[in-house]
Amino acid sequence: TRKYNFCAGPAALPEAVLETARDEILDWHGAGLSIMEMSHRSPEVVSVAEHAEATLRELMGISDDYAVLFLQGGASTQFAAVPLNLMGENGTADYVNTGQWSKKAIAEAKRYGNVNVAATSEDTNFSTIPPRDSWQLSDGAAYLHYTPNETIGGVEYFWVPQADVPLVVDMSSTILSRPVNVDDYGVIYAGAQKNIGPAGLTIAIVRRDLLGKAVPSCPAMLNWQTAADNDSMYNTPPTYAMYLAGLVFDWLKAQGGLTAMETVNRRKAEKLYGAIDGSDFYANPVEVQSRSLMNVPFTLADAGLDKQFLAEADEAGLLNLKGHRSVGGMRASIYNAVGEDAVDALIAFMQDFEQRNG
Ligand code: PLP
Repeated sequence: TRKYNFCAGPAALPEAVLETARDEILDWHGAGLSIMEMSHRSPEVVSVAEHAEATLRELMGISDDYAVLFLQGGASTQFAAVPLNLMGENGTADYVNTGQWSKKAIAEAKRYGNVNVAATSEDTNFSTIPPRDSWQLSDGAAYLHYTPNETIGGVEYFWVPQADVPLVVDMSSTILSRPVNVDDYGVIYAGAQKNIGPAGLTIAIVRRDLLGKAVPSCPAMLNWQTAADNDSMYNTPPTYAMYLAGLVFDWLKAQGGLTAMETVNRRKAEKLYGAIDGSDFYANPVEVQSRSLMNVPFTLADAGLDKQFLAEADEAGLLNLKGHRSVGGMRASIYNAVGEDAVDALIAFMQDFEQRNG
């Protein structure tokens, strides 16, 4: 029997998707071999890639003004690709620092140009988002980069900042959790291993007028224009991960799309934050209006009980609740494939644990 998986990533996948993949693993649609054993240039794999792209466009409402790129190297590689594609020689970009992933994006961008940290919430231990009117944007920045959901700190923007330059966002841990207006952004990128599919695939959604601006030293594999010109098949792409992502997109459509996902995701998060706030035993440090729908960190009143909590949770079939090493405590990642039943089971366990140890 499958257990409840609260891993931050690679994360739970919808059971129905795994079942389809299992059924098709030896013989994909009567072809007599697995989709992962076929040439990426075969009509079968090309059709899988085209279907995945079309379904993602439909789910997110992505217009033809944007290229959808299936890339590799994770969101971490995009930390370098973003400045290499957009900053220009000796250029400048604005970054907002709201946590560990923002910091990594900033550190990488500094290798390629001038980074202005327009705002930071480090002084609140990344439990807040600096209000837009406090951001110090620079003149002549090529773009403004921020992280709509900080996976480690559990901090999420529920607003889109106004700026005169393209917004470039690392949506790794919030993409597909609720509708967004793609037209608000210049570039959206995300590692797949949370709400999209298995690790190994990275998606970038790039407004077409931002293609073709890479510095000459940009490696071909990081150049978005190259990827767009070659339908994301400049080299051998992660074909099996693309196939699974397509199945996840089909599953999302069958659930009613992103509006329906938002309803469920909000209900899940509200229940869990409600249980945390309703007890003196558990706590979440994030300002209420910026609490992530996907990643819910929480601490126990007595950190000495952490190990016991995790061991008993494991025993109860609630896996991967250990918080990130940089913040400690617990973290429940409740992505799309983590059902409301999983959240209910977690809350029941937490309440029982508190009764016995509080
Ligand atoms: N950005 C965010 C918000 C993340 O949560 C992660 C991984 O968890 C990354 C970037 C790094 O992604 P990858 O491991 O795909 O490079």
